[in-house]
Amino acid sequence: MISIAIDGPSGAGKSTISRTVAEKLGYLYVDTGALYRTIGLYVLRKGGDPKNEQQVEALLPELKVDMGYENGIQQMFLQGENVTGQIRTPQVSMAASGVSAHSCVRAYLLELQRRLARENNVIMDGRDIGTVVLPKADVKIFLTASSEVRAKRRFDELTAKGENTTFEKVLEDVEKRDYADIHRAISPLVQAEDAIVADTSQLNFEESVALIQKIITEHLSTQNV
Ligand code: C5P
Repeated sequence: MISIAIDGPSGAGKSTISRTVAEKLGYLYVDTGALYRTIGLYVLRKGGDPKNEQQVEALLPELKVDMGYENGIQQMFLQGENVTGQIRTPQVSMAASGVSAHSCVRAYLLELQRRLARENNVIMDGRDIGTVVLPKADVKIFLTASSEVRAKRRFDELTAKGENTTFEKVLEDVEKRDYADIHRAISPLVQAEDAIVADTSQLNFEESVALIQKIITEHLSTQNV
């Protein structure tokens, strides 16, 4: 099985780019951020504090997170309920960032992610895929863009969905999440030593897709995979 790891900060376009490239290559696309988001949503629903490790850990035994695909689109299930449409709000983003700092949460999700990669050709995106989840991935890409460009993209996405927010607030959230992701003790967002850096600040969506596809096909061909 072939594994492609795509890591990078939030809003770099990882999910949309990865999903499109996976479709073109016929690989399964796995958005691991959605797993953390689903756990974040659960903690919020239970009235817990996502940053409180003890509270989060106490909720894990009763938690049931499942992933499936409908028409090729990843769906998240929480206690059997499809919550795919509810995990993209700014509140859930912050909750996901909070729960993702706890080792109990990362351990809880590790085997699920590895099993998907054992059973399928995957493009998996996240923060620690190339460093922790799939250290032997065939190709590792660190996909990034400046925080302003990432905030602008997120802002456009949110306003298109009717969310009432400002660019400054979104930029602040992006920078807060970057800081938390980079500075957490466990599985911080770092570039794997053998990752190829792709900066999409100056590229539009089609150009970004083309760049990632080129990196993948070139690396797979030199490795004779
Ligand atoms: O990628 P996305 O923005 O959906 O991720 C939500 C949050 O989940 C991130 O802020 C990050 O803290 C966390 N995450 C993680 N490890 C991953 C994927 C996401 O810690 N592999």
